[in-house]
Amino acid sequence: MHDVRMRGFSERSDVEAVESLLAGSTEVLESEVVASLEAGGRVLSEGVQAPVDVPAFERSAMDGYALRGEETFGATVLEPAIFVIVGECLPGRSFDGEVGASQAVRIMTGAPVPAGADAVVPVESCEERGETVAVSDAVPPRKHVGMVGEDVRKGSETLRRGRCLRPQDVALLSLLGVKEVTCVRRPRVDVLATGDELLPAGSSPRDYHVVDSNSPLLSALVDRDGGLSGALRILNDRVDELRAALEGSAADVILISGGSSVGQEDHAPGIVDELGSLDFHGVTMRPSSPAGGGRIDGRFVFLLPGNPVSCLCAYEFFAGPTIRGLGGRSRDWPHRRFEGVLGRKIVSQVGRTDYVRVEIVDGEVIPIATSGASILSSTVRAAGAVIVPRGSEGLAAGSAVEVLLYD
Ligand code: AMP
Ligand code: MG
Repeated sequence: MHDVRMRGFSERSDVEAVESLLAGSTEVLESEVVASLEAGGRVLSEGVQAPVDVPAFERSAMDGYALRGEETFGATVLEPAIFVIVGECLPGRSFDGEVGASQAVRIMTGAPVPAGADAVVPVESCEERGETVAVSDAVPPRKHVGMVGEDVRKGSETLRRGRCLRPQDVALLSLLGVKEVTCVRRPRVDVLATGDELLPAGSSPRDYHVVDSNSPLLSALVDRDGGLSGALRILNDRVDELRAALEGSAADVILISGGSSVGQEDHAPGIVDELGSLDFHGVTMRPSSPAGGGRIDGRFVFLLPGNPVSCLCAYEFFAGPTIRGLGGRSRDWPHRRFEGVLGRKIVSQVGRTDYVRVEIVDGEVIPIATSGASILSSTVRAAGAVIVPRGSEGLAAGSAVEVLLYD
């Protein structure tokens, strides 16, 4: 590819073409074994069969007395049924003997129901009188007894392949004694911020420098999308620095912020082209039209414009779905959606996709006026973004729109 610096983009790709190029070239990464206790948020690459029944034994659902249910038939407050208390069942321990006729065992919630008994009378319907208990309510057999496997049946598939593990899933794995699960490896992502003007994130602003805001943004997004971002790095606008960083990467995805366009200091497109393939560069969208991307040794490389809003936008459209796809997640944008009506028109152009930051005021969707790609705080003020598709020349006030919420 010829050097495009200081010449402008001769041809741009459409958002949809880039999306389908990326979707067509993303394969889910290989699997790895993960300790179940650390598997929250991970994606299963194999389903999990229950190795045991839960509960593994008949257990009491109440504090009360275990006995033979049919012996309580006809019991009332005025005419209680009387049982001899022959022992006690606490959680984690069983009663050794067998409960015989007219006998009862004191039992606590979660304790195993002893042999011979088939029902539990809640303590509220009982009154201990010395060695005996008076039962004033009838309980049929099985009442207040949790059956073996009523929670999870041994051999059943409790968690399917592709599942992103929720907190309660991790809890269930623990209950089942499943110590390890097979998950999709998390994509490793290198975040490289380029720009001679940049100070590392965490610095104090000074003179004409700019404190790097794209790296913290990107690493939080990568985290959201299930990737693993390594140490953040700032690179100067120098070909050799960027080349060395790209050649030295062991990541699945490299995000380069800044230097993606056609200015004199914009080296990234040329180096990606030199070391691998620059598959797209220049997109018919706003912001982030100077976005680009390609592959080097199988790694995905994304060129994200340095302006903070462009960087966010290009990540959401191109890098995010790729990282989620590699990690076995849905490529769809992960945002919750809000359906609303536009309070003010949005101007766009046929042939261009727009990413418009909006506020939601009294249920109305209001585009934020200061729409410059350098105004990071606009994304902080915004409730979310509305995407105006390429075929539209804008949206009139009163149109129904869908907001992709940031929260
Ligand atoms: P560039 O894409 O390198 O031409 O940068 C466009 C604008 O974004 C410039 O004003 C940069 O100073 C700014 N910028 C670039 N990288 C960052 C960054 N990592 N954090 C904050 N601003 C940046
Ligand atoms: Mg720059």
